Amino acid sequence: MAEKRALLGMTLQEMEQMVISLGMPRFTAKQLAQWVYQKNADSIEAMTNLSQKNRALLSEQCVIGKMRHTERLESVDGTVKYLFPTAGGESVEAVFIPEADRGTLCVSSQVGCRMGCRFCMTGRQGFQGNCSATDILNQIYALPEWEHLTNIVFMGQGEPMDNLGAVLRATELLMAPYSLGWSPRRITVSTVGIRGAVEEFILKSPCHLAVSLHNAFPQQRQEMMPAENAYGMEDLLRMLAKYDWNRQRRLSFEYIVFRGLNDSPRHTKELVRLLSPLRGVRVNLIRFHTIPDSPYEGAPEERMIQMRDFLSLHGITCTIRASRGEDIFAACGLLNTKFH
Ligand code: SF4
Repeated sequence: MAEKRALLGMTLQEMEQMVISLGMPRFTAKQLAQWVYQKNADSIEAMTNLSQKNRALLSEQCVIGKMRHTERLESVDGTVKYLFPTAGGESVEAVFIPEADRGTLCVSSQVGCRMGCRFCMTGRQGFQGNCSATDILNQIYALPEWEHLTNIVFMGQGEPMDNLGAVLRATELLMAPYSLGWSPRRITVSTVGIRGAVEEFILKSPCHLAVSLHNAFPQQRQEMMPAENAYGMEDLLRMLAKYDWNRQRRLSFEYIVFRGLNDSPRHTKELVRLLSPLRGVRVNLIRFHTIPDSPYEGAPEERMIQMRDFLSLHGITCTIRASRGEDIFAACGLLNTKFH
């Protein structure tokens, strides 16, 4: 028997094609989309405004495609890390970060990652496969706190630009009027800077972009992030400078601050020089969480404050990102599902 299709991850147009092929009226697709994307239905049987006959017919052909988490870990600070299965039989982690006025979910776009950043647990895990749009949306729709979500960041496992098709489909489905109608200003996609894919993303998606920079000197960056070899940041920055960045569409640079490695005044000055041609961008300085058997250590707080003040003085908006979920290995750079 042919495998059943997942409704989660289908566009309205694809649903229309499917219902028409099953002999149902076109408007059934709209009802389906509402059940899947707005009401977050758990089963086709629960779609009570569809006739019994149509529900039975649909159940023969498709499933919702939602899969419950298999593990849940809660931090003392309220951050919750979930392990979700993928349709391919692997697992990915998603991290829910509740705050007073918002709820952010950090989602994974790949099982593992092939970028090999030296300071990252996922990088050490290697690459096991891409998430489909269904796998990405499952992290949102199967999340127990899904109704409290205000922001999605693609900063979990994987390099989103290495799986751009699925990331674009998932973000488009979140923004679609027949779905949750999310504003692109609530979605941020991060990248190490795969130039061609980043430019395609800029042209196709209105969502915010975050570039993981971590060092302003190419040689040093390459030692921390082998991807610099193939996708040099100077070339990337020249391309990014062609576009307008502002509050509507934000470009931010992520910078994990390591003691003695990228936290000197020389690094900070070079960062200012490098980013000066780009107007309206911001830098997020991130505290590093030491990972087992790693030579890297986080920089002291006062260094981070000095860096922030220097960047701000030179007209670059800069924030220090609060650390969340470190005790459950949910913080930046700590996600790893290899042993699950
Ligand atoms: S930091 Fe991001 S891009 Fe680098 S290895 Fe980890 S998951 Fe991949």
